[in-house]
Amino acid sequence: MNLIKAEVLGYCMGVRRAVTMAEEAVKAAAGVQRVFTLGPLIHNPQVLEQFRSQGLEVLNETELPEDLASAVVIIRAHGIIPQLESILSYKGACLVDATCPRVKKSQMKARFLTDAGYCIFLAGERYHGEVIGIQGYAPACFVVADPVEAKERAETLYHNVPTAKTALLGQTTIAPEEYQGIAQAIQAYFPHLEIIDTICKATRDRQHALSQLCPQVDALLILGGKESANTRRLLAIAQAQGKQAWLVETVAEIPPEISAYPVVGLATGASTPDEFVDQIAKALSSAQAAEPMGRENL
Ligand code: SF4
Repeated sequence: MNLIKAEVLGYCMGVRRAVTMAEEAVKAAAGVQRVFTLGPLIHNPQVLEQFRSQGLEVLNETELPEDLASAVVIIRAHGIIPQLESILSYKGACLVDATCPRVKKSQMKARFLTDAGYCIFLAGERYHGEVIGIQGYAPACFVVADPVEAKERAETLYHNVPTAKTALLGQTTIAPEEYQGIAQAIQAYFPHLEIIDTICKATRDRQHALSQLCPQVDALLILGGKESANTRRLLAIAQAQGKQAWLVETVAEIPPEISAYPVVGLATGASTPDEFVDQIAKALSSAQAAEPMGRENL
C-alpha cells in the first residue's frame, strides 16, 4: 500500500492556540485552582482524555455551578455568546478567552452590522457552537443551512421589508461553493446583499489540499472527531469526488477493507494532532508490513 498525506495536516492556528492556552492554564493553576472548559475544548477524544487526566474539567453551559469564584474557565475556539460570558464573570470565574481570532472577527462583524441596521443571514449549521456564538452578537439574524432555506428566508423578508439592508456572514468552515449558492439565493431578492468573506483560509487550504489529493489516491482516511464540522466537511468533499472515504477517530476504527486499496490518502480535520496521524500511519504500516515499499515507506 502506498500512503500519501494531504499537504495540509494537523491543528489549524485557532485550535493550536486554544490547546496551548489550555496547557498553560492547567499548568499555572495546578493544585491551586480548578480549571474548566466550556464544552469540550476540541473535537478529539484522545486529546480530551489527556487533558482530563491533567485535571481539566468540562463544564456544561446548561448546568453551571452557582459559584465559580477562583475557578478558571477557558472559552474554546468556537467562542460563546456574550451573555454567557457575562454570566461566567458574574459567577466569579477567571476567563481565558481562546476564541479563535477569525471567529472573533465574525462575532465583531455581526455586532457591527446589527448596530448599523442590517438584516443578517448567517450561513452554517444551526446547532454548531460557532454559529450559536455569532448569533449572540446578532440575535435577530437568520441562520440558513442551504440555498433552499436561504431562498425561503429571503422571500419572507422581501415580502415584509422589501427595502431591508442585508448582509451575509458564514460559518468559518463552510465550503466556498455552498456559501456562493446561499448568496445567490438571497441576491435573487436582495441584489445589494453585502457578502462578508468569513471563510477561514486555513479551512480553504485544507479543503483545497484534499481536492488535490483525491485524484492521486484510490481511497482516503479522514482523521478527526465525528463531532467536528470541518472534518465531516472533508469527508463530504472526498465522497463528492467519487472516492471511498472513512472518517476515523481512533486507530481501532481503521476499516479492514483499506488494505484492498493500493494507494490511500490521509487527511485530517483542524483538531487532529500530528501524533494521531503518526499513529495511523504506523498502524497501517504494521498491517502492511509484508507489502512492497510505497511512497511513504510503508
Ligand atoms: S478552522 Fe479557522 S476559524 Fe476555525 S479555529 Fe481553525 S483557524 Fe480558527
